Amino acid sequence: MSKFILLISIFFVNHSFSQQTDKYILLKPDRVFDGETMQSGWVVLVKNNKIEQAGAMMFKLPAGTEIVELKGMTLLPGLIEGHSHLFLHPYNETSWNDQVLKESRAERTVRAVNHAKATLMAGFTTVRDLGTEGAMYDDVGLKESIEKGLIPGPRMIISTRAIVATGSYGPKLSTDNESIKGAAEADGGDVLIKEIRTQIGKGADFIKIYADYRWGVNKDAQPTFTLDELKKAVEVIQSSGRKLVVHAVTAEAMKRAILAGVSTIEHGDKGTEEVFKLMKEKGVALCPTLSAGESILQYDGWKKGVDTEPQRITEKKKSFQLALRSGVTICMGGDVGVFAHGDNAKEMELMVEYGMKPIDVLKSATSINADVFGYGNKIGRIKKDLFADIIAVEGDPSNDIKNIRKIKLVMKDGLVYRKE
Ligand SMILES: [Zn+2]
Repeated sequence: MSKFILLISIFFVNHSFSQQTDKYILLKPDRVFDGETMQSGWVVLVKNNKIEQAGAMMFKLPAGTEIVELKGMTLLPGLIEGHSHLFLHPYNETSWNDQVLKESRAERTVRAVNHAKATLMAGFTTVRDLGTEGAMYDDVGLKESIEKGLIPGPRMIISTRAIVATGSYGPKLSTDNESIKGAAEADGGDVLIKEIRTQIGKGADFIKIYADYRWGVNKDAQPTFTLDELKKAVEVIQSSGRKLVVHAVTAEAMKRAILAGVSTIEHGDKGTEEVFKLMKEKGVALCPTLSAGESILQYDGWKKGVDTEPQRITEKKKSFQLALRSGVTICMGGDVGVFAHGDNAKEMELMVEYGMKPIDVLKSATSINADVFGYGNKIGRIKKDLFADIIAVEGDPSNDIKNIRKIKLVMKDGLVYRKE
């Protein structure tokens, strides 16, 4: 009998200890962009790390709810950067070659820690990080450190090393002096399959393959992998429940990637009407990375707004508009790392400058990126039961996209990282 009472009392003690009080926060902005539409008259109730209510104030407020007034502000889902390299920093500071060859892995990790913080503080609560560029699997440890709360940073969807065709990628020293490469070389059947599985085993959430690169006889972009290699890659990757992301600039590499069944194409500069039509048909999304080209040309001396527009920019604008007209799903991803982390909004501004409506850019950076990357049931919308990744900006970014930089609140997983 006494043993029974002891068990009962242990049960109650344990139970009362494990029962933590729920934390509620009510956010009251002027308007809410829910990931698809701009809503007025909405409030958002956060319970612990999830969104509990979003809509008109028609519910009873739980006792002890913290009320946050956000007058003049727009509430949005935490932004999703679709194409980042947290292990790179701007090429006008240090060239890509020198970052890969001369910076220690320790230095690169220290930089990545700073980049992760800058990204989160700019309102980007998730990044799809597309390759460590020579820093091996260090994105796995960075992601885990953020998840453990050791450092502030965005949620990370990672690709680890990325895969290139033998001989195609840099850095290149001399014929008899092989350097470390910016990605894993693997091709053919068996070697490619083994590399994909190795990266998955190490922690890749998806696989990135370079379907073309500047290895043509005139250093122009030419396809690398054959259609069969890409098909084999997709078969292996998809059977693990993951997606293939492909770097492709040429129309031919884009076409092979689409036919193979990739999820997104990065860059896509030389996409033709036929290619974009095929993308739309097969449901492949485009991540146009407008900022990468703009940044590199400006590092090379182009003074935007003063000098005449470089041909590369004029052509990029044309192909971007062609993709829009063709109804291709557009992701928001700037190739940040080529330019400064924390300046991610640059891509959103350029998307508007190149012809997209601000509200569509906001969709790309939230619900569309979440859906395309396969995370739509967790992030990308202000909706009940999704993670409380929420930001507030001053003004209305659907009128002027520049307002997306006026960050007043950053919440990730229900925790406030920035509040002004
Ligand atoms: Zn990139």
